[in-house]
Amino acid sequence: MGENSKIEWCDHTFNPWIGCQKVSPGCDNCYAEAMMDHRYKKVQWGAHGERKRTSEQNWKKPIQWNAQAPAFRKENGYRPRVFCASLADVFDNQVDSSWRGDLFALIRKCEALDWLVLTKRPENIEKMLPSDWSDGYSNVWLGTTAEDQTRFDFRWKRLKKVPAVVRFISYEPALGPVRLPTNGRLPDWLISGGESGAGARTFRPQWIRDVIADCRRFGVAPFHKQWGSYDNNPLVVEKGMTAREARAVDVEGKGGGLVDGKLVREFPDRN
Ligand code: SF4
Repeated sequence: MGENSKIEWCDHTFNPWIGCQKVSPGCDNCYAEAMMDHRYKKVQWGAHGERKRTSEQNWKKPIQWNAQAPAFRKENGYRPRVFCASLADVFDNQVDSSWRGDLFALIRKCEALDWLVLTKRPENIEKMLPSDWSDGYSNVWLGTTAEDQTRFDFRWKRLKKVPAVVRFISYEPALGPVRLPTNGRLPDWLISGGESGAGARTFRPQWIRDVIADCRRFGVAPFHKQWGSYDNNPLVVEKGMTAREARAVDVEGKGGGLVDGKLVREFPDRN
């Protein structure tokens, strides 16, 4: 729902609708399903589930953020970033195409906001973009999730063909190593992070160092959000600290976020 976001790489989240279907291992512990289906019973998840459009009041939130954007930019030095969507997938086949049309009309209207549209269905993007997309709206960043190399290879191959001012990868939850290709087009930005919450899966801190090294080598902006759990934090896994000791020195995100003592939180140059 529209709200000030707690996600480190954006300032607001906007959900035009709620509901989705799992498409890959990164979805196994879907937070949105746990909250909106299992806990609050607002929608039924899955192939035969529902997609519920959010309220008119919720759809007005971005218009308010857009009006406040010049002051935000003056104070913070960058354009406000809106994550769309955290409880659904904009390029979900089961969504009424008129809803997506309404969303892109809203995005066009809110031109002082940068919209970060993240999908696990990049194969659908081209056929679902509005007819005036052309080289991409100047305020839309398109991203896809890549939880392992198989998904990176499949999804980046599709996303990289779509024109956009910023293309990005969300390597979260990190479930296997991901390395960037040594030739061809590369994303502008790569967010990484470990899974959090009940049943969070483990991963190796070295995977994060390796992909950040690739980012440095190829000029991709890296943003490491969190380790997800202190069980994945390198201070525990590699340095032998207890979770409590690690928590005392690494307080960023869930499970801490320092990479060899530093925060790695960069953005592509857009302002
Ligand atoms: S694509 Fe996202 S919202 Fe949809 S099931 Fe997967 S994790 Fe959940």
